[in-house]
Amino acid sequence: MKPVIALVGRPNVGKSTLFNRMTKSRDAIVADFAGLTRDRHYGDGRLGSREFIVIDTGGFEPDSSTGIVKEMARQTRQAVAEADVVIFVTDVRTGLAGQDHDIARYLRQANKRVLLAVNKAEGMADSPLLGEFHELGMGDPHPVSAAHGQGIRSLLEAALVDF
Ligand code: GDP
Ligand code: MG
Repeated sequence: MKPVIALVGRPNVGKSTLFNRMTKSRDAIVADFAGLTRDRHYGDGRLGSREFIVIDTGGFEPDSSTGIVKEMARQTRQAVAEADVVIFVTDVRTGLAGQDHDIARYLRQANKRVLLAVNKAEGMADSPLLGEFHELGMGDPHPVSAAHGQGIRSLLEAALVDF
C-alpha cells in the first residue's frame, strides 16, 4: 500500500500549488480565488523509488447545498481520516492566522502524524519569521516554496520517514 499524504490548511496558503509540485501534474486547479479547487483531489507522487498518494483539500462542488465552509471542513476531515501523514500548510507571508490555530487544534485530536509546512518561504530558509509557527505546537516548521520548488524534497523525506 502506498502511503497517503493529506494537504490541509486554510484557503490560499498554497495547498494546490504544493499538490502540483508533489505530483508533478497540473491536475489540481490552482486559482487566486480562496478555496477554489473543484476536482481531482488525488494525485500520485514519487520520491526516488518510493511512491505515495497525495490528497489536496479545499475543493467544493459549486452546487453543494451545504455551503462552501462546511464542505471544506468535510473534505478536510475526510482527507485526514484517509491519510497516513498530514502536511499542515501555512503561509509565511500572511503569518499565523486564527484559522491556523483552529486547524492545529483539530489535528491534535485527530491522532495522526502531522508535519508543519510554512509555504511561500522562497529564499527564507533561515528567516526569523518562521519562529512564530512554533506556537502551533506542531514541531519545527519546514520552510517550503511550492511555487519555486524549494524545501519540498526535505519535507517529503520527513513525511515518508516511516515508509
Ligand atoms: P490553496 O487555496 O491553499 O490551494 O492555494 P493555491 O495553491 O491556490 O495558491 C494560492 C496563491 O498562492 C496562488 O496565487 C499561488 O500562486 C500562490 N502561491 C502558492 N505557493 C506559493 C509560493 O511558494 N510562493 C508564493 N510567493 N506564492 C505561492
Ligand atoms: Mg486549492
